[in-house]
Amino acid sequence: MEVTVASPTQQELQQIVDDIAGRFVLETERGAVADYIPELAKVDINQFGMAIVPIHGDPVQAGDANTRFSIQSISKVFTLTLALKKVGVNLWRRVGREPSGNPFNSIVQLEYEHGVPRNPFINAGAIVVADVILARQTAGEAISEIVGFMRSLAHDDTVDVDVEVARSEARTGFRNFALGNFMRAEGNLDHAVEEVLEVYFNQCAIAMDCCQLARAGCYLADAGNNGAHEHSVITPARSRRINALMLTCGHYDASGEFAFRVGIPGKSGVGGGILGIVPGVAAVTAWCPGLDDKGNSVLASRAFEELVRRTGWSVFGPLPGALD
Ligand code: GLN
Repeated sequence: MEVTVASPTQQELQQIVDDIAGRFVLETERGAVADYIPELAKVDINQFGMAIVPIHGDPVQAGDANTRFSIQSISKVFTLTLALKKVGVNLWRRVGREPSGNPFNSIVQLEYEHGVPRNPFINAGAIVVADVILARQTAGEAISEIVGFMRSLAHDDTVDVDVEVARSEARTGFRNFALGNFMRAEGNLDHAVEEVLEVYFNQCAIAMDCCQLARAGCYLADAGNNGAHEHSVITPARSRRINALMLTCGHYDASGEFAFRVGIPGKSGVGGGILGIVPGVAAVTAWCPGLDDKGNSVLASRAFEELVRRTGWSVFGPLPGALD
């Protein structure tokens, strides 16, 4: 029988993720893997994983939740956190906070807006954030800082960059070079474009599994605290604002659709992962490498829809009846 509950127990959550993973094994409508990054084109599309890490209680997982994948743009949530810790509100002089309504790697809007990216989650915005992290250190040190941050959040020292993916992106990231060069010309990058992109490509190429990533994201569900080790990652106010940006900008030009269908802050990546935050409750990761035409995972998005349908989780209030 299908469990649909307002405050699900661990057992009920387990049942829900098992149902979702079980159903998706046979699903044939999976979209297509990202092939503009050659290394990602090799990933088997027939995988699906899901993990929920509640802020109180034990995690649940299903499917390929222990298989590592390229976190890609989900890394932008974590580098934004690091950059805010470094420069605080000064960051907002160099990057905006509005949805772009454009694809994640769009160039056209950047020229109209004089090299100031719409938000930190489109590629141009994340490149500015990487430039902020690069201040007073080498690209290698900045990458180590980001990887170290991910390890401490995930409580797992094995988290690392997949160097093949990073190399693959560096070889083919022509649009990102174009964005970087344009922003450098407009005075919105302080460092050499090659160095900034080295940081950016490596952060995107960090490989993590659903369990690690949900654990890492937990501070955003818990007002800036990384639960298990009880350390404050960021202030409650900033955590709330990162969630707001995830809700409005986390899925690029499909952010409105994710808010409409799912109703929680989320961040997607072209590796097929989505990190979702249920404030005060849990961090959730779903992963399947097949993407839709906006670069968001088809089955991971559906997994979130199904999860919120059955738990009532949403930032928009309780769910008295069926979603329609
Ligand atoms: N590294 C990818 C890129 O720059 C990230 C894009 C994404 O995950 N949406 O194109």
